[in-house]
This record gives sequence, structure tokens and C-alpha cells, in this order.
Amino acid sequence: LGHVNAINSVSTWSSSDHSRQAVGEAFKRMITELEQTSHAQGEPLDADAFFVADLHTVYRQLIRWHTKLPRVQPFYAVKCNPDPHVLALLNKFGTGFDCASKGEIEQVLNMGVPSEKIVYANPCKAITYIRYSAAKGIDLMTFDNADELYKVKQHHPNARLLLRISTDDSGSLCRLSLKFGASLEDTGSLLDLAKSLDLNVVGVSFHVGSGSYDPSAFLDAIRRSRFVFDQGLDRGFKFDLLDIGGGFSSDTFDSVADLVRPALDTYFDSSVRIISEPGRFFVAGAFTLAVNVIAKRKLADEEKVMYYVNDGVYGSLNCILFDHQHPVARVLKKGSQYLYNTHLSTGNHHCSIWGPTCDSLDAIASDARLPYELNVGDWIYFDDAGAYTVAAASCFNGFKTSRIVYLETDILD
Ligand code: PLP
Repeated sequence: LGHVNAINSVSTWSSSDHSRQAVGEAFKRMITELEQTSHAQGEPLDADAFFVADLHTVYRQLIRWHTKLPRVQPFYAVKCNPDPHVLALLNKFGTGFDCASKGEIEQVLNMGVPSEKIVYANPCKAITYIRYSAAKGIDLMTFDNADELYKVKQHHPNARLLLRISTDDSGSLCRLSLKFGASLEDTGSLLDLAKSLDLNVVGVSFHVGSGSYDPSAFLDAIRRSRFVFDQGLDRGFKFDLLDIGGGFSSDTFDSVADLVRPALDTYFDSSVRIISEPGRFFVAGAFTLAVNVIAKRKLADEEKVMYYVNDGVYGSLNCILFDHQHPVARVLKKGSQYLYNTHLSTGNHHCSIWGPTCDSLDAIASDARLPYELNVGDWIYFDDAGAYTVAAASCFNGFKTSRIVYLETDILD
């Protein structure tokens, strides 16, 4: 736990209660400023949506990780949220990075991250990207098919390869094994091919699916990995690396870690280095999104009031479409009253909430439960808005992506 002690000494105020209070104050400050500006200009308030980001939450998750899974070195999945401050924080405390493309590799290298702290964890890579990795000394990469092996042989023959295997990801929000991962029927022949090409396969990787809610999926995947390790050892490979992927959620992390920790020790002795690719776990809770009610419709034939807010599924809330999330709308401010983080922020006023674009697909919640009816100009917030939100937000219909306001912190000093 030496690493954790080092982290602990950095900040004095990092409890989650303190964080929530600070996020609430940041919303108040921001909205007051916005109101004062519009008042001074004699204009009605027409503010853009914005995030408040709290890096202390990322930091606390890092401590949780190292405490609960001390043997597993995290390589943060950049795709989940490539925010430069999040990356800087994780880099400062020694995390590696899982990159999916040349762009992500460039971003991380430009921060001064050494190449050995990067895993290029995309089993199907463009040839130019493989060549770029070779030129930059990024050797660790995944594969799951024969064509990839031929490409790697030609363009990065010194790569250290991880064989990505498929998992039972039926208990997850995003089923990644539909797209990636070799089945156990194919792993033997892939290893034979790698051997005949004189490629250096160093271990196995898997992903149980993003937003996994089935802890047993990890156990099953660890057992499958052992099977493939034995196949590799039988063929004369020196396997010494297991990558247990992402799929960790904050809510279930403790119980998942309590299963994974002993399972790793049972199936893999200490000569095997264990890494992982968590994304959501680190950032989901670190960002909170505030949106402004810009319009409202009450139709005679429609029971529920329809609210239109200034960010939606084409923007930050793309997580509804791409990540199958169901963000919970809560009232942040009604009139002059701030309701952030109080029991009054939800209630029994059934309504629907829509994004600002002209597409009917831009629907945030068909049955939101607010405490009472809102007016144009009131504010709504969404907790847990850090994972798979800013990463894929677009400017469809000419709307800007929501800006990010960071809580003050000494963590990056
Ligand atoms: N690693 C790979 C290869 C992925 O595809 C993903 C997500 O899609 C992740 C890691 C991160 O997963 P999560 O955010 O569920 O931890």
C-alpha cells in the first residue's frame, strides 16, 4: 500500500460529503455569475448547460482501487472520458493508459506518459496506427484474429501481444464480446499461428462488458484466461501478463473486487503481472451536469408536461443512446431556490425531458419524477455524468458542447 499512502498525503479534504457540498457551491456560484451577467446586459438568462467536475472523486476512486485490488495496476481507458485534467491526475499517481487509436495514443504521449505505460487495447487496428505505435515504442497491444497477426508481423514484429478472449458479457450494459474476443475454440490455432510467425504473445486480455452487473462474469473470465495461459505455456510462450479489462462500476466495485482478488491469486501466481483497463469506475461520479429549462409544452392530450433543456442525447447525454444509461433528472434550482442534493430534488411530478435539437430521438427521459412543475429558466442536474458523455458529444443542430467547470483543487499542483 505504499502507493496509496503517497496518494493519501496529497489532499486534506477529499471525503465524498465534502465533495458534494463543494459541487453544490460551485453550481450556485456559476449560476449566480451567469444571472448577474445577463442582468447587467439587460438580457433574460439564456445560459448554456455546463458540467462541474470534481477531481477529488477520481482521486478517491484511485485509492479505493489500490486498496481493494493492490495487485492490479490500472490502465485508465481514455475513451471513457479524455478530459485533460482527469488524465493528468491519473498520470500523476502512476496510472497507465488504455488507448484505442492513434489519437488517444498521441494525447497521452503528449502529456509525457512513457510508452511502456500504454496498452493499445484495440484488437482490430488500422495498419497506419500499428506502424505509428511501432515508431513510438508502444509494444503492448491486443489481438483476437489471424489477420491482425499477419499485420503485426509485417508492421510491428517486436510487439508484445495479448490475446483478447471473449467473455460471457450477458450481464452488462454494453456487450463488447459481440464485437471482440476470440472464443476458446479458436485460441489454440491463433497461438499456433503466432508461434509459426515468431511473434511474441505475452498473455491474455478480456473485458466482461462495460457496466457489468454480474460479478460472476469476472470469475468465469479469469478461469478462461487460465485455460488460455496453459495453452500458451504448452506452445512454449512465456506468458507473464494478464489484462482483466474494464467493466467495473462504483456501486458494485467492493463486492466484485472481493471476488476478483482471491480468484487472481488462485489462478495466477505472483510471477504474472496483472493489469486492467477501468474507465467508468474512475470518472462516472466525478462529473455533474447542469441543464437549463429553455422551453416547456403543456398539451391538452398529453398528461405530462414536456420540458426542453439545453443539452441532450446529441450532446453530453449521448450516454443514453451509446451507453444505455438512464440519467436521473433532479431539480437544481427553481426560481431562487437551490435544491441540489436535497431530498426535494425529485418527487411525484411526472414529466418528460427533451434535448434541444429538432430530432424526436433527442429524448432524455420519458417519465422523469421531479418534485413539482418547473418554469423556463429553472435548472435540472444529472449526477454521475462523467462516463461516456463528454467523450462522444457532438454539435448536431449547431449546439455547442457543454463546458466543464473544475472544482478548485491542490491535487494537480
Ligand atoms: N477496455 C476496452 C477495450 C473497452 O472497449 C472499454 C470500454 O468500451 C474499456 C476498457 C472501459 O470499460 P469501462 O468503462 O466499462 O471500465
